[in-house]
Amino acid sequence: MKALLDRAYRSHHALEVIFSSLRWFFLVLSIGVFSVQYVENPNEDKLFFFIVLVVFGFIYMGVSDYYLHKTPEGSKMYTLMTKCGPFFDFIAFSALIPLTGGLKSPLFPLAYLIILHVAVYWRFLGGMIAAGCFTLVYSIIFFMQAQDATSIHSMIDFFSAVFFLLLIGGLGGIIVSRERKHQWENSILVEAANRDYLTNLANHRSFQECLRKDLEQGKEFYLALTDIDKFKSINDKYGHVTGDRVLRQIGEILTTVLSNKQGKAFRYGGEEFALILYYHDEKEVKELLDEIKEAVASHNFYDKGEAFSVTMSFGSGKQNGERPDLLVEKVDKLLYIAKNGGRNRIVWAEVG
Ligand code: GH3
Ligand code: MG
Ligand code: MG
Repeated sequence: MKALLDRAYRSHHALEVIFSSLRWFFLVLSIGVFSVQYVENPNEDKLFFFIVLVVFGFIYMGVSDYYLHKTPEGSKMYTLMTKCGPFFDFIAFSALIPLTGGLKSPLFPLAYLIILHVAVYWRFLGGMIAAGCFTLVYSIIFFMQAQDATSIHSMIDFFSAVFFLLLIGGLGGIIVSRERKHQWENSILVEAANRDYLTNLANHRSFQECLRKDLEQGKEFYLALTDIDKFKSINDKYGHVTGDRVLRQIGEILTTVLSNKQGKAFRYGGEEFALILYYHDEKEVKELLDEIKEAVASHNFYDKGEAFSVTMSFGSGKQNGERPDLLVEKVDKLLYIAKNGGRNRIVWAEVG
């Protein structure tokens, strides 16, 4: 139960699965309620309309469940079917209530559930509009059914029902909006904590987290550490603002090259970057690192109209299940060898 609530709290899909299950539950409950009332007071017309309603319910819910479970979340049909759910519920509700006892129907509280479902998508305004629609349905049934609509008892019943419908719509909308705002603020904080401000790449914290998770999950990958050659002289010659621009542009190059590859780039710190590359074949990783090395080396950086270029050195090796810090240490040593060997090169770990 706790796990289900936790999932419903985090994911829209889990919430939709709960609403869809409730729909099936209430369909069965409606059949039960109608059957009891029918046995006590048979009415052929009502029976016919009820059967039509149930058949339509089955078809709609079957189709909607198909899209809920078989199409990817966010696809056109998935969104259409989940968002259409409350409209279908409203129409079914408007037909079901007169068939199961009108205002005294034990199924009337379904209105609150449907209003809340609308508020999940369309928040306060949606909740209030939904409450308005249900108020309209309630009023029509009330004025058709009440023996003496103007008696004080009837008026109290009417206004308290309308008040609760509007209250659920309004409060439901406010609670959902508050929750969304909170989630949005939270996501901004998480983003800020995991992204490097200068290059917009994932930062050192993300790198360590990603490395830990990948090792935990037994993923196969290569790690590369790369460092800009003689970057201090770039700062000294062109200034730190231009140095920052170089770092930013290198971040863009890494992102562009990796955009259609199976790999992630991180700013490890200073002028060093880390690459986690999810490949089985070392040849593919070699080609990819060559591509990155050449993309940086052939890029023209500018300072006051003057073009210059920079190179990078790389150390790279396959993870062999070692602890994250030992893996980084192993690859860092290779980067050091690349630097000592003359820079602008890639040094690989010995296989085996
Ligand atoms: P090597 O080829 O041996 O790596 O030489 P290097 O000059 O790149 O290495 P060194 O470690 O001597 O210098 C790194 C420089 O990177 C020094 C530091 O000022 C600069 N740096 C680190 N972070 C930033 C940054 O965020 N912005 C700028 N502009 N410079 C930075
Ligand atoms: Mg350097
Ligand atoms: Mg360095």
